[in-house]
Amino acid sequence: DLPVCECNTCYGGRDCSKFSPSCSADVDSGNPLFLEPYWRQRAAASALVVSGWHRMGYSFPDGTNISPELERHIRQLHAVVGNAVTEGRFIVFGAGSTQLLNAAVHALSPDVPSTSSTAGGGGGVAAGVVATAPFYPIYELQTEYFASVDFQYQGDTSLWIAGGNSSSEKKNLPDGKTIIEFVTSPNNPDGKLNEAVLKGPNFKAIYDRAYYWPHFTPIPAADDGELKIFTLSKLTGHAGSRFGWAIVKDEDVYNKMLMHMQLNTMGVSRDTQLRALKLLKTIMAEGGGRTIFDFGYQTMKSRWEKLRKVVSVSKRFSLQDVSSHYCVFSGRVRESSPAYGWLKCEREEESDCYGVLKAAGIIGRGGSVFYATDRNVRLSLIKTRDDFDLLVDKLQKLVSAEQDEE
Ligand code: PMP
Repeated sequence: DLPVCECNTCYGGRDCSKFSPSCSADVDSGNPLFLEPYWRQRAAASALVVSGWHRMGYSFPDGTNISPELERHIRQLHAVVGNAVTEGRFIVFGAGSTQLLNAAVHALSPDVPSTSSTAGGGGGVAAGVVATAPFYPIYELQTEYFASVDFQYQGDTSLWIAGGNSSSEKKNLPDGKTIIEFVTSPNNPDGKLNEAVLKGPNFKAIYDRAYYWPHFTPIPAADDGELKIFTLSKLTGHAGSRFGWAIVKDEDVYNKMLMHMQLNTMGVSRDTQLRALKLLKTIMAEGGGRTIFDFGYQTMKSRWEKLRKVVSVSKRFSLQDVSSHYCVFSGRVRESSPAYGWLKCEREEESDCYGVLKAAGIIGRGGSVFYATDRNVRLSLIKTRDDFDLLVDKLQKLVSAEQDEE
């Protein structure tokens, strides 16, 4: 008598209908399964069959063997959404945006001869890589893991503010030094529409636009910058396919990114490219590409309404404020509906907010992971409906207990 389905950890029984009340709400990861119902409704239209003989050869990332059809659809989608300028820009494919983040750091860094024993000696100065806390930790982790003479992770952006105040921590910019700033906009974890802090000839920004889609934010304007990175993961929800793309203005930077991809993986899987194309074609076939964003936005908006309603009566917890902007995609002013709640514990003694929530059966991601403090916890709102409902249920219990105390 085998179960008919694979139950998630909170459910058991033959048809997964038995709820286990002791189960925790796991809202740790940013797995974008909130879009699964959209694809279930389009199961046949989005299905992909690939014959054994099809697309067998290498996909050299030299700009000739990537799918021109896929590139065309990406440009068309950006034109519909209005979130990125693609005219006259180069596009580089990557195995998720994760692979492109480091490709971009590599491409924006100078070539420092590897014989120079210390960065800065012998003809080139290693670029510094910075980001503003709270930020997505991969930027630092990757930069340090792929240690190179060409670049080094150098801490928080604020240490490099040009002409900044005389704080002893502020560093002077050595001659010829490039600073590469990661700008996540909307930001992970707090959803803010960040902009580059550092401006000037030696400062280069990598805009991580993973969440710059109408599911999560109004689109105030098309990103016209030098280098911006997008991913299928948070657009269609297909994080497992590992597909992202960078939109690059400068041809030399583009060529350096291609070289990185060539040496790193010899290009992006053709199977992945075929799947991405099928998904984008399915999206574009409906309402010129608008339907998925209606679905995504409505889902996120309704989740935010429920979450806010619960937290609004609490003095113990608060959520980040979200901004409203005119959205060029929807043609009206709208609030953002970020992928994550950035919850704060307000009581002085509850500085370990992660621990407070964990004890109440909510597994978030502590603020210290994002170089903030654990007084904040990131709650993922983009997992399945069950995950979200369980989160609201557990939070509701916490807030009700707080009110009983009063
Ligand atoms: N950038 C940000 C800000 C993210 O949150 C994520 C995923 N959580 C990524 C990049 C990586 O996404 P992927 O490699 O799946 O494209």
